Amino acid sequence: MGKATGFMETARLENPYRPEEVRLGDYGELHIAQPAEARRAQASRCMNCGVPFCQSDFGCPLHNLIPEWNDLLYRGREREALERLMMTAPFPEFTGRVCPALCEKACNLESDALTNRDNELYLIETGFANGWVRPRIPRTRTGRRVAVVGSGPAGLAAADLLNRLGHSVTVVERADRPGGLLMYGIPNMKLPKDVVERRVRLMEIEGVRFVLNTEAGPALLDDFDAVVLCGGAKKPRALKVETAPEARVTFAVDYLTAATRAVLSGEAPSVTARDRAVVVVGGGDTGNDCVGTALRQGCRSVVQLEMMPAPSAERAAGNPWPEWPRTLRTDYGQLEAIYRQGADPRVYRTTVNKIMDGAVQTVQLQGFDPVPGTEQTLPCDLLLIAAGFVGCEDATASAFGIALGPRGTMMPSDGTHRLHGRLFSAGDMRTGQSLVVRALADGRAAALEVHQFLSAGM
Ligand SMILES: Cc1cc2nc3c(=O)[nH]c(=O)nc-3n(C[C@H](O)[C@H](O)[C@H](O)COP(=O)(O)OP(=O)(O)OC[C@H]3O[C@@H](n4cnc5c(N)ncnc54)[C@H](O)[C@@H]3O)c2cc1C
Ligand code: SF4
Repeated sequence: MGKATGFMETARLENPYRPEEVRLGDYGELHIAQPAEARRAQASRCMNCGVPFCQSDFGCPLHNLIPEWNDLLYRGREREALERLMMTAPFPEFTGRVCPALCEKACNLESDALTNRDNELYLIETGFANGWVRPRIPRTRTGRRVAVVGSGPAGLAAADLLNRLGHSVTVVERADRPGGLLMYGIPNMKLPKDVVERRVRLMEIEGVRFVLNTEAGPALLDDFDAVVLCGGAKKPRALKVETAPEARVTFAVDYLTAATRAVLSGEAPSVTARDRAVVVVGGGDTGNDCVGTALRQGCRSVVQLEMMPAPSAERAAGNPWPEWPRTLRTDYGQLEAIYRQGADPRVYRTTVNKIMDGAVQTVQLQGFDPVPGTEQTLPCDLLLIAAGFVGCEDATASAFGIALGPRGTMMPSDGTHRLHGRLFSAGDMRTGQSLVVRALADGRAAALEVHQFLSAGM
């Protein structure tokens, strides 16, 4: 159970960010990893609670065995801790970097919670460094063939588990590189792309086949025993306002994709914030990634507009522990903007109501209604729209003859993963835009349903 008095003796210590003046000069990892002693001391704080909310439905969607691997880590038994972690977590190197750590928000130590995410990252990177993460090739094959459409976290998790269960898995991906939003979406500083490529290489050795640059269609049903659609939910919410034809307006994921392509190729990005006054519409995580990327590209200024009022720094009544706290968070991009510009880039209760050439007109909001007389003009020669997503793209749905549900997703009416016949769905495509850890859990749940379905016919 860790150390009985650990949580009283040792304070919570997260992996710190690299200083702004250093990290703004590159696209390298944001955090500095801490040495083994620091991680073991952090793991010693775990109380092995009678009711470990960290691994409950309020906490980790993968139901990671958090107290068990924290105890092994505290005792310096990293290899066993990693084995215990990998029983439920398919790719700790992704979640250890990008997960908002629902488990920490649900931890009984509340604001002083365990640093589960950093501990997880330490375990998996120690495993890779020591050669403990070996290909796990199934001893026998079932002879069943499964196609997984999309190579984001849901597709990778489904492919990984189906392959381990002995099925022959082919992942079909439209993009030129695998990873979905792990590759083209989440910026390199949050998740370096060689980390994604390392996992894909391992999966290939384990027997998963990746077919890139390929649009999946219903012909897959002729060649495979089952098809799992994991195409994501990236249809962006557009701004329906008067827009000058010359205005430069780009959706956030397109902008972030271009930025990552440029980082990987060393060439100039097809759309850049360099020397531009940037306005980001959307105060969420995607907007924050745009702020951090624009600053690295050398923007002249960046402003982030948010429709909702600023949340309080404290938990609101009616949002009790262990639920996810809706509090004011200042993320890496916003911290970098404060460092560079001297003020938080976020402007609350405000949106854009007119897009001109070189400027936008903003207006304050009361609820969702514009307040007359509050219009202002902001310089803007790159407008980035990070206003959320309205479901999955129509192309895959119409190709497979699926009628999308009210949220624009492929959620089967009975709540399972089976759409009909041999066709399944998982991840954001099934649930709507969510989190990497939820997509992983959903991909694994779909894989188990497919396995059950295929086993019944064997
Ligand atoms: C900018 C951004 C930053 C984010 N940051 C975080 C974060 O820090 N932490 C976090 O937990 N979550 C984050 N998220 C959310 C998270 O990335 C998603 O919830 C997750 O990636 C969903 O996984 P998925 O596998 O369902 O879909 P995706 O990752 O969207 O992958 C879907 C894949 O399917 C492919 N595809 C679609 N249709 C077809 C077709 N017909 N044929 C072939 N291929 C097809 C697409 O090309 C894509 O590669 C972020 C999201 C965005 C947009
Ligand atoms: S809730 Fe926190 S202290 Fe309790 S077992 Fe989970 S991680 Fe450890």
